Amino acid sequence: MNGKIKGCILQVRDLHKTYGTGDNQVRALDGVDLDIYEGELFVILGSSGSGKSTLLNMIGGMDAPTGGSILFRGKEIGRFRDRELTDYRKKCIGFVFQSFNLIGELNVRENVELTANTKNDPHIVDNMIELMGLTEKKKSYPSQLSGGQQQRVAIARALAGDADLLLCDEPTGALDFETGKQILRQLERLSREHGKTVVIVTHTREIAQMGDRVITMKDGRVVDSYENDEPVPAERIDW
Ligand code: ADP
Ligand code: MG
Repeated sequence: MNGKIKGCILQVRDLHKTYGTGDNQVRALDGVDLDIYEGELFVILGSSGSGKSTLLNMIGGMDAPTGGSILFRGKEIGRFRDRELTDYRKKCIGFVFQSFNLIGELNVRENVELTANTKNDPHIVDNMIELMGLTEKKKSYPSQLSGGQQQRVAIARALAGDADLLLCDEPTGALDFETGKQILRQLERLSREHGKTVVIVTHTREIAQMGDRVITMKDGRVVDSYENDEPVPAERIDW
């Protein structure tokens, strides 16, 4: 196991999510168990409809499960009061989506400021923008940026709340191969050099090779799970 890995940041136990009722019922999650450790790069692999986004949304406190539990650093998020849940979403979790989800009317700096937790670090906005190599683009609007640059803004925004757990739902899905790879390198760096816990959801098998640990989902269940003693650097991944 990777030497830097510490305790569990997240424990998911027997998680269920059912949408709809009667004949229209869909079991999006059907008893998911997983442990994610501090600082690791965790990959959730699975084809479309296997329940990956549903799982990520539950972990991010965006939606409530039908059954089971999610512990963040030992605390059951299902028991959080509204205020605690809002804090959890804002400060503990950073979300990155396939579609970037930037606000078109705001420039780069303003987009990153949206989530910023300047109490701990008054320079966090500029630091995260710099970390993502966007200092020159601070005043640009999303429409003036390439897809890769927009995704880097989204990552900077996800980090500006000081989140330790970064949840990335198909972060390269809307990008060409080279740009996608560049984004994976950034995510890898955040885990390896900055100690962030990074969860990457993907339907691309090759991308899974970069994970410290990989689970495969099918029909709302974890059907395979393994640890990677020697994760392949994103740089060397082809798909
Ligand atoms: P993935 O991200 O792996 O493609 P999802 O988590 O989006 O999978 O979906 C898992 C299953 O749950 C699919 O069958 C999908 O149609 C269904 N589903 C997801 N969200 C909803 C929803 N809001 N209402 C009804 N069914 C949903
Ligand atoms: Mg999805």
